[in-house]
Amino acid sequence: ERIFPKIYTYTSEDLERIPKRHSYSNKGTYGKIVVIAGSKNMSGAAYFSAKAAYRMGAGLVRIVTPEENRQILQTLLPEAIVTTYQRNQLEGDWLTEAINWGSAIVIGPGMGVSEEAKYLLSKLLSISKVPLVIDADAITIVAKEPELLHDHGQKIIMTPHLGEMSRLTGKPIPEIADDIIEVAEKFAAEKKLTCVLKDARTIVTEGAGNTYVNTSGNNGMATGGTGDVLTGVIVGLLAQGLSVAEAARLGVYIHGLAGDAAASKKGPYGLLADDVCDAINEVVR
Ligand code: AMP
Ligand code: MG
Repeated sequence: ERIFPKIYTYTSEDLERIPKRHSYSNKGTYGKIVVIAGSKNMSGAAYFSAKAAYRMGAGLVRIVTPEENRQILQTLLPEAIVTTYQRNQLEGDWLTEAINWGSAIVIGPGMGVSEEAKYLLSKLLSISKVPLVIDADAITIVAKEPELLHDHGQKIIMTPHLGEMSRLTGKPIPEIADDIIEVAEKFAAEKKLTCVLKDARTIVTEGAGNTYVNTSGNNGMATGGTGDVLTGVIVGLLAQGLSVAEAARLGVYIHGLAGDAAASKKGPYGLLADDVCDAINEVVR
């Protein structure tokens, strides 16, 4: 085991940490992911997260999203299993079944902060036993209702950008940016989770010490959808058996490398989240 200093980063030799693929295996070997994402006017976030999980090597990905998104998601990503719900029809066994099916779960991208979204998050936090990635609108819901996280007793990765961390802590964005390591460490320790505080140099921490500072990535990634891609990479690694801390660090590192590979091909101007997504398996190779 490598001994970590207080602050460290990953380099290409850390790609050895990616779980190996075996000849004698099948899709069940590489995990079942549930992506609870999207809302009536937003389908792309669910697409990026689910596709990135597959690009990272996940065995099966199931998207839970409103009925309005079914056709577009099945067209964009026929590899995904799509489970939909109608407004006001959230109760019932289907959601419990979908949650229990997964070996790792993402919630939040493009989900909105409606009553339905709140119900999905509270149900997930109350019944799920597998590692969770809480991102985007699910973070905004937690910021408004912090009691949702109380005694969660679960392995959770939360992936706020600076604006979302500002909602979570009430601190202004410039203060967070000035003190990014301390803010991330304090939040992770208080909430007993792995915090991925996203910025041009993303921080990953579980609390005091052992804090990871990411150095891959570039300004082409400052574009809509790249955060959704990150959730997919992280959950893809979780589903293949990495711990929450390792999946978060390695996921952030690989996501940045994918951004670098995409930018070296196409330049940082006009890079699309989809370009980053499609570079994931190239950098892993
Ligand atoms: P989000 O704001 O949720 O879409 O997430 C944006 C993603 O892109 C995060 O993973 C950021 O770390 C990454 N990103 C944004 N801007 C930059 C930048 N200038 N350099 C490197 N990574 C960036
Ligand atoms: Mg985001």
